[in-house]
Amino acid sequence: MTAPTNWHQRALDLKPESKIFINGKYVDAASGKTFEDIAPHDDRVIAHVASADAEDIDRAVKSGKKVFDDGSWREMNPRDKKAIMLRWSALMLEKKEELALLEAVDTGKPIGDTLSVDVPNTARVISWYGEAIDKRYDEVAPAPRNALAMITREPLGVIGAVVPWNYPMMIASWKIGPALAMGNSIVVKPAENSSLSTLKVAELAIEAGLPAGVFNVVPGLGAEAGQALARHMDVAKIAFTGSPAVGRKILQYAAESNMKQVALELGGKSAQVVLNDCTDLEAAASAIGWGIYYNAGQTCSAGSRIIVEKGIKEELFAHLRKFLESFAVGNQFDPATQMAGLVSKSQRDRVNSYLDLIGHDGEKIIFGGEKTRGADLLIAPTLIDNVKATSRLAQEEIFGPVLLSIDARDADEAIAIANGTDYSLAASIWTGNVAKAHTLARRLRAGTVWVNTFDMVDVITPIGGFGLSGSGRDKSLHALDTYSALKTTWIALN
Ligand code: NAD
Repeated sequence: MTAPTNWHQRALDLKPESKIFINGKYVDAASGKTFEDIAPHDDRVIAHVASADAEDIDRAVKSGKKVFDDGSWREMNPRDKKAIMLRWSALMLEKKEELALLEAVDTGKPIGDTLSVDVPNTARVISWYGEAIDKRYDEVAPAPRNALAMITREPLGVIGAVVPWNYPMMIASWKIGPALAMGNSIVVKPAENSSLSTLKVAELAIEAGLPAGVFNVVPGLGAEAGQALARHMDVAKIAFTGSPAVGRKILQYAAESNMKQVALELGGKSAQVVLNDCTDLEAAASAIGWGIYYNAGQTCSAGSRIIVEKGIKEELFAHLRKFLESFAVGNQFDPATQMAGLVSKSQRDRVNSYLDLIGHDGEKIIFGGEKTRGADLLIAPTLIDNVKATSRLAQEEIFGPVLLSIDARDADEAIAIANGTDYSLAASIWTGNVAKAHTLARRLRAGTVWVNTFDMVDVITPIGGFGLSGSGRDKSLHALDTYSALKTTWIALN
């Protein structure tokens, strides 16, 4: 029998690439500056990551523009482009363990998750968009017989992508896949605490045959590198995923520079509406548990509010308690772990600050609720009852393993509460009545609605929201349209 992998030791042995990736090469920041990348698991400095500033951003954008202008990617035979994307995806799977370790060590995620979710999904997104490259047609308009009118989709140029730390590689791939499939170049700015996996993926792109300059990665601080990218005059579109506060700034940077296109994928406060005609409360509890405690609640679409119709709450809570009995919480390097600590001390302190609010307005802890201090970033799965729909706890994104329960008299009140935040990313309804499921799904204001399930996701459908959740849509074939512009060409035939 082979010995079990010692993931922690392998994490300690990692020698991650930590320089900026521009024009197919790892380079130091022009200023020589670096920032410390800290492992949440043990507070260790994993790497001194090159810290890009405006000069490095300019170098990256120039290299993207050069290759865009010379057409070596944009004009490549679609079949060849597809082959490169498929090779790139295959290389990610070949390097699955290394990429999974980099992602885990940077973010604190369970190694089991990065191995089974983050890496395979990133590879799937790249191959899925690669496959789309030679299966997409443009249009011929119904023009008079003396003319031919074609509507084609043209790539935009250099895309800037600014991404968060909660699913670093995966969210980057939602921008990279459709942007490259449409023939653009891209410059990705990862979050400060999670640059390593995307930097490694860049090397694999070159190995797969992607022309140098098409894909660049510029780690750096948000206010410095992120801002410089969003303000760059040669960036045609900025694709941002992150908090609403920074999303607002991105809009401002675009307005104050070249009025580049902006796509915003922001936060969420997703509701799970549980009606008393739900036929399987045990299944609902399991989906609710996974929906909030997966990735320790650090998911934009996390189902952080349950809105429970009168009469079923006690039974639902009992099933949630039972669910937790077999939900493994603990060390991220144990492959059996299903939930580990938060990404950073500042994120843990933010969650603590919300736990401080419990009890101010009649809220009651059902389980969990303890704050942690010092190096301990593990907040236990928490359920809080008696939460008022308009309270800060129910309105603001906590981004931790904290589930709030809000009472509803009936389905109408439940829908009103579900729709009663500024966020509108996702929601679900649990009911045994099909007609009710359809009508209530229509009334829920959310980019994604699930019925009798939660978190069914794949690259085949879009993700995005309304209001404070942003207006961009990642994933699916629709994303291809967002990385291209329509062009009309009239040809006289007489
Ligand atoms: P954040 O907004 O703090 O940071 C996101 C990115 O923006 C990082 O790369 C950061 O360096 C950069 N940034 C920070 N300040 C900047 C500035 N002034 N100019 C330009 N860039 C700047 O968000 P976060 O804490 O990394 O991520 C959590 C947030 O992301 C949550 O609100 C979560 O809901 C949201 N999110 C949304 C989705 C979605 O698809 N809708 C997915 C995942 C996360």
